[in-house]
Amino acid sequence: MNQRRAIFLDRDGVLNVNRPDHVKAWDEFIFLPGVLTALRQIAASDFVAVVTTNQSAIARGKMSAATLRDIHARMLGEIERAGGRIDAVQFCPHLPEDDCNCRKPRPGMYQRAVEQFGIDPTRSYVVGDALEDIVAAHTIGAHPILVLTGRGQAQHTRLLENNHGDFVVVADLAHAVEWIWNHDQNRHSDQHCHSEQSEESPRATEEILRSAQNDKL
Ligand SMILES: [Zn+2]
Repeated sequence: MNQRRAIFLDRDGVLNVNRPDHVKAWDEFIFLPGVLTALRQIAASDFVAVVTTNQSAIARGKMSAATLRDIHARMLGEIERAGGRIDAVQFCPHLPEDDCNCRKPRPGMYQRAVEQFGIDPTRSYVVGDALEDIVAAHTIGAHPILVLTGRGQAQHTRLLENNHGDFVVVADLAHAVEWIWNHDQNRHSDQHCHSEQSEESPRATEEILRSAQNDKL
């Protein structure tokens, strides 16, 4: 039985500054404000922390897999020096047209981590700045949280226009972690959470979105 819970983290636009031309080297990797502190808080909890990231720059020939692994090793070093911990980094090196099962919004990277760590996805959270993350969260049955850092602002509009179901909107990773802690305390049982979502989802979503927007203003 899968017992552990995870916080799945997108990388670009959530942990570090997103670059339209891809982060291709360590000197292009810049942590967003508050991220190292937020990761330290996750490390102090019982959540498994998993990074899932689409890195088509590899298939595009803009960066080697070795370089990407080097970027991730340095990223993990910085995170650990700040008291944080990432349990696994999953990346998809493919192009959209490769039709792989790992490129988000497909669930392959999440499923790998679910098996590796014995994670219960329905009690887990996905934090991302893009529609792909939200769709993947729905596919695996996790709670989706959109951050407005990175591509988040534009993707928020895209998500609302395409009516992509329930998701929470917060300013950044620090607020996502804060929301998870509150949500977690408010839950007395998983059954309560699920019945609440299925019966009241449209209204609940609207309220969550509205309160997230108010928080922002
Ligand atoms: Zn892939």
